[in-house]
Amino acid sequence: MTTAETFARYVLPTYGRYPLVPVRGEGVRVWDDAGKSYLDFCMGIAVCSLGHCHPRLVKAIQEQAGTLMHVSNLFQIPQQAELARVIVEDFVKLPGKVFFSNSGAEANDGLIKTARRFGHAKRQACGAARYEVLTFSQSFHGRTLGSMAATGQTKIQEGFDPLLPGFRYLPFNDLAALEAAVRPETVAILLEPVQGEGGVNLATPEFVRGIAALCKRRDLLLFFDEVQAGFGRLGEPMAWRALAPEVVPDGISWAKGMGGGFPIGAFWVSDRTIDADGKTLTSLMNPGSHGSTYGGNPLGCAASLAVLGTISGDDLPANARNQEARIRAAVSTWNSPALAELRGLGLLLGFVLNSEKIPASEGKTPAQVVVAHLMDQGMLTVPAGPHAVRWLPPLNVTDAEVDEALAIMRRTLDALAPCS
Ligand code: PLP
Repeated sequence: MTTAETFARYVLPTYGRYPLVPVRGEGVRVWDDAGKSYLDFCMGIAVCSLGHCHPRLVKAIQEQAGTLMHVSNLFQIPQQAELARVIVEDFVKLPGKVFFSNSGAEANDGLIKTARRFGHAKRQACGAARYEVLTFSQSFHGRTLGSMAATGQTKIQEGFDPLLPGFRYLPFNDLAALEAAVRPETVAILLEPVQGEGGVNLATPEFVRGIAALCKRRDLLLFFDEVQAGFGRLGEPMAWRALAPEVVPDGISWAKGMGGGFPIGAFWVSDRTIDADGKTLTSLMNPGSHGSTYGGNPLGCAASLAVLGTISGDDLPANARNQEARIRAAVSTWNSPALAELRGLGLLLGFVLNSEKIPASEGKTPAQVVVAHLMDQGMLTVPAGPHAVRWLPPLNVTDAEVDEALAIMRRTLDALAPCS
């Protein structure tokens, strides 16, 4: 049986998979089972932030795997303590504490649970707990029952009702609508600084600042979902700081790029006080309130320490900014009728297609059409919504690799929609 046949027989068909069978990776390249190489600008959807099989990450995993792979969270785990210190001191740079999960959806569930605890501590005037979290249309927060309910896309929720109650979806970048939506049971606002899955939609700095002011006025928690955009991808160590650096959040979730391919996620909660008695927000998540068997185990934390150490040691956020500028400069000279816009920030970029020039075809969206052509040309990308082709190269991508990708992209767009 081929891999595809084995999949079809034994794996739940929750994904529409490409026929490609990747078997090896190095840096920005992967090879398939026939030996064909691909320039990988999908990188496991923003996961392999150092490229494939980065030597420092491989060494860290090998050494830790041979020393101590896993112990229970009932014990002190030095790698977990150190990783939390690095995240707080070197990345968030605000007082707070971290919980480690295995994925982004779980990290968001943790933020939602923190909001519920806060809603019990700081109640409505009538005495009932607050519980409602406001999120945004086209957002994506994950596939667990909690994070799916937080996600503002009906296609993700179809057939899974009744959903976890306590969420409402507001139009993205519309501060007036958000301000009008807050009601007594509202307790938090959860925002992706850039909506990745939703089409590479950037929150405006005014929107982020307006939300922060609204949260302060109405005693709401401000949460950022940085699962896709965090840890350098937007050109700053933390994603929200690329938009509104002065804003102070109450919670942040991450996963994907923080492990470089090793499955690990986390959420951070601010140590700020929430009442006149000096009770802190972090104290609400007390012993017994939350847990994870695997989250924060020595192996995962050793991997993430290697990744985050490389991101800050090699100043990869600066490379993300520099490569974005090079990409924008090149694309601005193309005059491609296929391209409506280049959206995004740092190395989370969306090439938005002109659907009159590249229409949907054979059940494929315009973005899927272009992604399939790029794959034929030896380049991996991923759609973001129906109209955007997403580039998510590793944060250490070089000038030569970006130039190679630009050449393939331009050739593909010109072939699909020639200049008239
Ligand atoms: N939040 C955002 C912004 C994401 O992009 C994703 C995944 O794409 C998630 C949450 C869910 O993360 P995971 O698939 O690790 O559960």
